Amino acid sequence: MLSMRGVNKHFGALHVLADIDLDVSAGEVVVVIGPSGSGKSTLCRTINRLETIGSGSITLDGRELPSEGRELAALRADVGMVFQSFNLYAHKTVLENVMLGPVKVRRMPRARAQQRALKLLDRVGVAAQAHKYPVQLSGGQQQRVAIARALAMEPKVLLFDEPTSALDPEMVNEVLDVMTSLAREGMTMVVVTHEMGFARSAADRVVFMADGRIVEEALPHDFFSAPKSERARDFLSKIL
Ligand code: ADP
Ligand code: MG
Repeated sequence: MLSMRGVNKHFGALHVLADIDLDVSAGEVVVVIGPSGSGKSTLCRTINRLETIGSGSITLDGRELPSEGRELAALRADVGMVFQSFNLYAHKTVLENVMLGPVKVRRMPRARAQQRALKLLDRVGVAAQAHKYPVQLSGGQQQRVAIARALAMEPKVLLFDEPTSALDPEMVNEVLDVMTSLAREGMTMVVVTHEMGFARSAADRVVFMADGRIVEEALPHDFFSAPKSERARDFLSKIL
């Protein structure tokens, strides 16, 4: 479904993505881990063209990612993204946040968009908050709304960039539980996270990045029980 080949990117002198090759099949859950500054966020951002790449290619469903215009808007709809910082529209209700994309981008009639949004809010467990504003919700609730908003676009792939890092500890699991059920339902997901429990239980594959490179790629069980690289061993010893 998603394929990155020989992707390179520089920020000035910094080689932030170095010869990245990554394939994600339909229904697969790939967890990306690695030290801070290793390029994980930049990797995610190239997949929906929030960042351009210097060389190499990225294809979605066999087609090169578009760089502008209507095709780019369509790509952004196909590649959902959930950020660390929720990024909900503060002046819109929860329900309006979830309806907005389908109405504006997919040109869906409002009544139908609302009906779907309510279903999605129910699915992530925040239907009772539909008419509140984001500031009235806890961080965990806001992040679940952000997931519902991404799902409303029926994305082909969902990217998560440290979705639980900004949450109080007691709210982490309510978000991970939603992500786990999406994974079980067959959603194609690329998840940057430091939640190793999630990686172990939900990932089909773990990708370990350091210094802009994919250093190791393995089944979760193999990676956590016997990481091959020194960098991965060192990283795991610090966080586990
Ligand atoms: P990670 O998500 O793994 O912590 P990032 O992808 O955010 O890593 O960043 C990788 C490196 O690129 C870091 O050294 C960071 O400072 C640098 N970087 C990220 N975004 C920019 C930018 N827009 N301009 C310059 N450097 C950047
Ligand atoms: Mg990051």
